[in-house]
Amino acid sequence: MKEVYLDNAATTRVDSRVIEEVRKCMSINYGNASSIHKKGENAKELLEYSRKIIASSINALPEEIYFTSGGTESNNLAIKGLALKVYLGDRNKNHIITTKIEHDSVINVCESLKKFGFQITYLNVDKEGFIDYKELEESITPNTLLVSIIHGNNEIGTIQDIQQIGDICRKKSVLFHIDACQSFTKTLIDVKRQNIDLISLNAHKIHGPKGVGALFIKNGIKINPLFDGGGQERGLRSGTENIPAIVGFAKAVQISSSHEISKISKLRDKLIAGLEKIPGSKLNGPKGERRLCNNVNFIFKGVEGESIVGYLSEMGIYASTGSACSSKSLKASHVLLSIGVKQEEAHGSLRLSLSKFTTEEEIRYAISSITKVIKRLRDISP
Ligand SMILES: *Cc1c(COP(=O)(O)O)cnc(C)c1O
Repeated sequence: MKEVYLDNAATTRVDSRVIEEVRKCMSINYGNASSIHKKGENAKELLEYSRKIIASSINALPEEIYFTSGGTESNNLAIKGLALKVYLGDRNKNHIITTKIEHDSVINVCESLKKFGFQITYLNVDKEGFIDYKELEESITPNTLLVSIIHGNNEIGTIQDIQQIGDICRKKSVLFHIDACQSFTKTLIDVKRQNIDLISLNAHKIHGPKGVGALFIKNGIKINPLFDGGGQERGLRSGTENIPAIVGFAKAVQISSSHEISKISKLRDKLIAGLEKIPGSKLNGPKGERRLCNNVNFIFKGVEGESIVGYLSEMGIYASTGSACSSKSLKASHVLLSIGVKQEEAHGSLRLSLSKFTTEEEIRYAISSITKVIKRLRDISP
């Protein structure tokens, strides 16, 4: 059976060039970067070379990059690490601003911090998922410590204007963190130009290995570690560095190219145009350049997203009902509810996410299959 993988926002296939680097690292350069012999020095060199690659991809300095176990840990380290640090000093800085459309690894960190006396403001978004800059500016108080915003949304593809947000945060002297797990390598990130203080990144959304990521922390910003131990990553993230995964992460970044983005965008727009022809279909999120190049999210009136995903899976097409984390629970998507989708429709969405491996033929096959599945599901429903 033909397999068409359209769930790249959940995770991606590892590029064969990445696998080769990881394999070499595991079989030859397997030393511990803390060892002082040659094998350790080789490992340390690979670690620092990888750090340089990640740093330069966002116009940061190598010493501003801290490797972690992925996006979830980076978000935890950024927000909890900062909150812990500040809590020890100035207990008035207890206000965090974020949005209603964050990934669970930001929302649940904020909910956790409430128990420690932090106040959280969840910014509203408009019908396409964009925040309102005026609401942001008015939400900032003298107690505000941090503004944390998802850059590219994992469900509906909305790309926030981080330049605008960064400028507001700079003007108001509050720290600015972005969760860039979906947008990394797919849209420009420049920490200097965009006034960003902290960035969460991961590898498995960009054809790298799972379980590895990074946190960018601008020089001078002090945060508290979440792990105590051997003091790796300049004391901020103890634990033996996962060098094979880190090397794979750097390789994935190195081989990503802006050329892919325009190719993927064209296929995305073909898929959108094809699905818009289905009666009762509605695209969630914006169109054009303000949408992640690989994200498509639709609601089909009267049809459950879960049923569509099930039928498609039988046909070898792998999609999602929304975010991978919420797709197994029956809770309606908080992102769709926030853009004004009605409760009963928020169960019904279908997310299709493309990658550089997606072909035009696969898109044509997906359009015709989805069209058939929707028709069949509508025929059998009362
Ligand atoms: C995938 C993802 C995460 C979590 O990253 P992991 O590496 O899977 O822990 C966080 N935020 C966003 C926006 C994501 O897409």
